[in-house]
Amino acid sequence: MYRTHTCGELRIENKGQQVTLAGWVQKARKLGGMTFIDLRDRYGITQLVVEADAPAELVEVATSLGREYVIQVQGEVVERQAKNAKMPTGDIEIKVCGIRVLNKSVTPPFTIEDNSDGGDDLRMKFRYLDLRRNPLREALMLRHKIAHEVRNYLDAKGFMEIETPYLIKSTPEGARDFVVPSRMNPGQFYALPQSPQTFKQLLMVAGYDRYFQIVRCFRDEDLRADRQPEFTQIDCEMSFVEQEDVLNTFEGMMRTLFKNVLDVEIPNPLPRMSWYDAMDKYGSDKPDIRFGMEIHEITDAAKGKGFGVLDGAAYIGAIAVPGAAEYTRKQVDELTEWVKRPQVGAKGLIYIRVNADGTYKSSIDKFYGAEGLAKIAAAAEAKAGDLILVMSGDNKRKVQTMLGVLRIEMGNRLGLRDPKVFAPLWIVDFPLLEWDDETQRFYAMHHPFTAPKPEHEKWFYSNAKEDLERVCANAYDFVLNGTELGGGSIRIHDAEMQKRMFEVLGIGPEEAEYKFGFIIHAFQFGAPPHGGLAFGFDRVCALFGGSDSIRDYIAFPKNNQGRDMMIDSPSEIDDTQLDELQIKLDPKA
Ligand code: ASP
Repeated sequence: MYRTHTCGELRIENKGQQVTLAGWVQKARKLGGMTFIDLRDRYGITQLVVEADAPAELVEVATSLGREYVIQVQGEVVERQAKNAKMPTGDIEIKVCGIRVLNKSVTPPFTIEDNSDGGDDLRMKFRYLDLRRNPLREALMLRHKIAHEVRNYLDAKGFMEIETPYLIKSTPEGARDFVVPSRMNPGQFYALPQSPQTFKQLLMVAGYDRYFQIVRCFRDEDLRADRQPEFTQIDCEMSFVEQEDVLNTFEGMMRTLFKNVLDVEIPNPLPRMSWYDAMDKYGSDKPDIRFGMEIHEITDAAKGKGFGVLDGAAYIGAIAVPGAAEYTRKQVDELTEWVKRPQVGAKGLIYIRVNADGTYKSSIDKFYGAEGLAKIAAAAEAKAGDLILVMSGDNKRKVQTMLGVLRIEMGNRLGLRDPKVFAPLWIVDFPLLEWDDETQRFYAMHHPFTAPKPEHEKWFYSNAKEDLERVCANAYDFVLNGTELGGGSIRIHDAEMQKRMFEVLGIGPEEAEYKFGFIIHAFQFGAPPHGGLAFGFDRVCALFGGSDSIRDYIAFPKNNQGRDMMIDSPSEIDDTQLDELQIKLDPKA
């Protein structure tokens, strides 16, 4: 037997017991002839002590131990002289009578401590060492716990976990596919699933009316900090349901997770907000509702004073930042530069200080007297002490989006976004389609399998752009603290309607047949009404852990260039492999 206990287990009640432990040497130090060793495994750390008068061989082994050596020790549990209240095992230590070195270790490239001295790249390269550290161990434990709770909840509700293939044909979810060449079918490629969307719908046609899967998805996108080329979804689908049924089921799941994992009660029922309200008030379809600072349209209040920028704008919006009237000129200038960065894209920023004494000071004093500014302040619902920030432009949604980004930034600066406070909500009533000026065509806002609301079908079959633009879907997103954690919709289950959808999206009948024939055909064999959603599992884990980095919650993630630093992938393949696949590389390209 390698061990009788783990390194996180022994307490004062175990005093006097003979035990065997195994683990890694966190550190060893000599003190007045005695050797103290911190022994670590995934359960914790236990202090070992080799007394000064222990047999010489034992002292010799103890003093020869290096960091990360794997050892097995025998000894007696004794009460510690100097107790450590911070450690669960801090009341005891093991008086060692035998040590066996199970394996040596070269010196690790960084310290295996909560606050490691290793940089990101180094820790990614030696991920297996990084994973020995507490913060990552706790993150993976949290992930395990959440997965377990999800499975329990869904199983109790009659959901079946069914796997779907990874080598498939492209499923459009708005990103590029990763493709895999087929050796047996030269010149042909599989695509890795961006999600199991079509397969889960086919399972509904097959009669498996409650499906879920904790499943890997692949999207070849330009990576941002919180994106990974492969990520995990909690993917779900149900038959014979309306939006209400889906929302209730998964609101219940999230409530259970919050309760069982974090011991947090979330509101019952959860708030719901229409996509239109979210855009108007928060400039985002994933609003952070932990703080106010809502966007107000001030178009009428601000126009007609001879100030060209505003007079010429189609939409003028403002936020009132509480307590920021004291911002110095320098701070406001810095903020103006901030909104001009390409990530925000504003042309400029107008400010109005609402001073504590009720007077105003603004960048547009020349055009607006006290009365004009008071009118704007009223429209922006600003109070004394607020700093009003104004943006304008031709496109209402664009201006709102920029104000939304600024609002989040101000929320961060004012410390209003505490990761320990949770404010989940549903965003509902998304538009079905989104017009793109550049390509002059409609795109599906969610995906092409989302159904129009029944009461909007008349517009869906119209060919007028204005009609198509106002079609809404029973599509919904689960949003938490400014992050979209999940989303889904009620689906099309009628072959003719699915064909119409492809037509609206500019996908001709032949292309539709080639790419999506399988699902259109399936719908002819008795497809039940159905709907579902998927949660971004990595993000759920990160937010539950109070972090915004999903990387820490994935055992072996990729870096921002999509590389696995540890196995050094992607990498070239050899000529034989290329030949077998009948692939020729073009070195020029
Ligand atoms: N397949 C969708 C997604 O990945 C989720 C859904 O509609 O169920 O976003």
